Amino acid sequence: METQRLRIAMQKSGRLSQDSQALFKSCGLKINLREQRLIAHVENMPIDILRVRDDDIPGLVMEGVVDLGIIGENVLEEVQLIRAAQGQPFAVKTLKQLDFGGCRLSLAVPEDVNYTGPECLAGKRIATSYPGLLKRFFDEKGLGFKSVMLGGSVEVAPRAGLADAICDLVSTGATLEANGLKEVEVIYRSKAVLVQAPNPLSDAKQKLIDKLLPRIQGMQQARESKYIMLHAPKDKLEAITSLLPGAERPTIMQLAGDTNQVALHVVSSETLFWETMERLKALGASSILVLPIEKMME
Ligand code: ATP
Ligand code: MG
Repeated sequence: METQRLRIAMQKSGRLSQDSQALFKSCGLKINLREQRLIAHVENMPIDILRVRDDDIPGLVMEGVVDLGIIGENVLEEVQLIRAAQGQPFAVKTLKQLDFGGCRLSLAVPEDVNYTGPECLAGKRIATSYPGLLKRFFDEKGLGFKSVMLGGSVEVAPRAGLADAICDLVSTGATLEANGLKEVEVIYRSKAVLVQAPNPLSDAKQKLIDKLLPRIQGMQQARESKYIMLHAPKDKLEAITSLLPGAERPTIMQLAGDTNQVALHVVSSETLFWETMERLKALGASSILVLPIEKMME
């Protein structure tokens, strides 16, 4: 029997867990995730959160076992490529790219290797957990290689003599460096995404999703935006406004007891850098404040 509660899968523990949890919280979902349970009930909405290994999420969404899932694009794309190679379809709907889980899938070789391009890895052994994405990269270059499939600890493969190079996820590069490897090629850039099961959902569930999406959008937009306030000499208003990023329509207010200056308030699409603030000051602006925004709805 189909449950009436919207089911969302997230990674139980790992790099996407905390941000996924924070996303639910910021959308107004009340959840108690402290317990070690597979399913957590949202107290104030008809939603259940399923906590699983990230590798299980594409399958659960595709089969409609859950309605939504949060997963890295890298995993999604890899599953799609592997299934396509086996002639199996894979259709999930990507609803939204999220602003966390950023990483890149990169080729890395031992530091002492003189890397001159992908050609120098032709025919070599490359250890990876992402054989599909790796093969696509080399196919596009018309080069062959030997894939060494490793589920984890890919970075130790060259030193252990298992491979000549690796293809692994990188965010800072610290792990590569610690293992005497250097990043030589980025083959895929990834972020976390919210995906939906391919089959249409009940009206009630769809309505709930339509309510959640603007909230996610509002949170992401707010994180990127700032509320800027400053005092500006009236005759420099135009020059000052043109320095503010994404500030087409500022609010201008009279200052009590000062006819030469006005107060300018604006929501900016990005933060103000010190350099811009210094230029604003040089134009005569004063009392410049840059405030974070918690939520937005347009
Ligand atoms: P699980 O136990 O759920 O299978 P895992 O070990 O496969 O976990 P994590 O290492 O927690 O997965 O990574 C989950 C996702 O986080 C990755 O698929 C990727 O999209 C993203 N990610 C972001 N930065 C990194 C990084 N530096 N290394 C690996 N993954 C990263
Ligand atoms: Mg995994």
